[in-house]
Amino acid sequence: MSALILDGKKLSAEIVAGVAVEVSARVQQSLTVPALAVIQVGEDPASSVYVRNKRQACERAGIRSLMYALPAAVTQSELLALVGTLNHNTLVHGILVQLPLPAHIDAATVLERIHPNKDVDGFHPCNIGRLAVRMPDLRSCTPYGVMRLLALAHADMKGLHAVVVGASNHVGRPMGLELLLAGCTVTTCHRFTRDLAEQVAKADILVVAVGRPGLVRGEWIKPGATVIDVGINRLADGRLCGDVEFDVASARAAWITPVPGGVGPMTVAILMENTLRAARKADMALTEEELAE
Ligand code: NAP
Repeated sequence: MSALILDGKKLSAEIVAGVAVEVSARVQQSLTVPALAVIQVGEDPASSVYVRNKRQACERAGIRSLMYALPAAVTQSELLALVGTLNHNTLVHGILVQLPLPAHIDAATVLERIHPNKDVDGFHPCNIGRLAVRMPDLRSCTPYGVMRLLALAHADMKGLHAVVVGASNHVGRPMGLELLLAGCTVTTCHRFTRDLAEQVAKADILVVAVGRPGLVRGEWIKPGATVIDVGINRLADGRLCGDVEFDVASARAAWITPVPGGVGPMTVAILMENTLRAARKADMALTEEELAE
């Protein structure tokens, strides 16, 4: 058996094209053009690639992108002040702080300063909390992008056993909440999990987000499973790979994501959808203000 590919590149292009249609409809109605502010601190080369990809996606979606490139030595209070200014700017709908931040800045404090209505990465405790209580609003981009890919393979996920490997705040934890919301029975694995192979072998749906090439061996995969590899690792020869041993896994799985071309483009596409959603939330807030007058 050779697994079918879950093509994130294709689906993400469709999603971004859909956002572009909605944005031009807003322009026709004289509504504001959605705007995304991206803050990059320092010049980490990988971050620069991610920021460039986001800017290019904005261009395709018709979203205005505003770039704030700050020096690596910027202080936490200067960064918080910029976030505060952007929170109050009614022409900015989404704010994204590119991670990782330099060691002298506490990322959690900065992310929490972003207004939840402008938190287009979906990292704010309010937005993660909304997902936890089944009231999702701005959803974390990577986990929700994974759900959109999974929908291509599973019309209904209820009752399936989903195993998430990795429990970070930005990927593994919201991923488990998304799968729970979809009715899966969810197991989350992390560095203290005792027998990773045993847990992986139970998965109808497997999502791996750790950042270690080859961590999940292909022979562990349940035959017929759907395998989503979130990991992005650069090998010594410059090639990118995920966390799952792709060749062996794809001989056992029914569906699998490639790296690159799987989850990565989906993350950016959901960011575009979230920015559009944030712009709509701003319209509604204005309407409520007008009604209150
Ligand atoms: P992270 O913050 O470093 O978290 C990694 C998680 O893996 C942690 O929860 C850690 O457990 C867990 N872990 C470490 N060793 C493990 C082991 N041996 N077995 C099971 N779990 C283990 O990383 P992240 O931000 O979640 O990202 C994970 C990977 O996804 C990276 O390769 C990253 O580049 C990639 N990523 C891709 C996208 C995309 O769009 N495709 C988006 C985001 C991230 P503890 O919690 O116990 O430390």
